[in-house]
Amino acid sequence: MNETCIKCGAVLDKDDIGAHKKLVDRGAQSYMCVKCLARHFDVTEQKIREKIAEFRAQGCLLFK
Ligand SMILES: [Zn+2]
Repeated sequence: MNETCIKCGAVLDKDDIGAHKKLVDRGAQSYMCVKCLARHFDVTEQKIREKIAEFRAQGCLLFK
């Protein structure tokens, strides 16, 4: 089963879902892709990717 972005319909990977949970809503049941998250927060996609790398470095279980 593939989750898809609620905004653009892109297929989501673990990073997309993890980032949405971390940045938007931990209990979310539907998610945005990193691209749409970036637009949502009005930052670059690169910035979100950096955040994901940070969370992963912290050992966040959402990004295992
Ligand atoms: Zn999207």
